[in-house]
Amino acid sequence: METLIDMKHIHVSEHDLKRYNLGLITEEAELADLEKHLLSCPACMERSN
Ligand SMILES: [Zn+2]
Repeated sequence: METLIDMKHIHVSEHDLKRYNLGLITEEAELADLEKHLLSCPACMERSN
């Protein structure tokens, strides 16, 4: 699906979004990357709600 990918970054997957919402992402680097993406990407931020 090309809508999930742009030139600069790959969007957070549904799978990772679910893990994030459930608090299952415990690896600091992964969590930091994910949160950074959410903060800069309204589309994913909305999907995470
Ligand atoms: Zn995104």
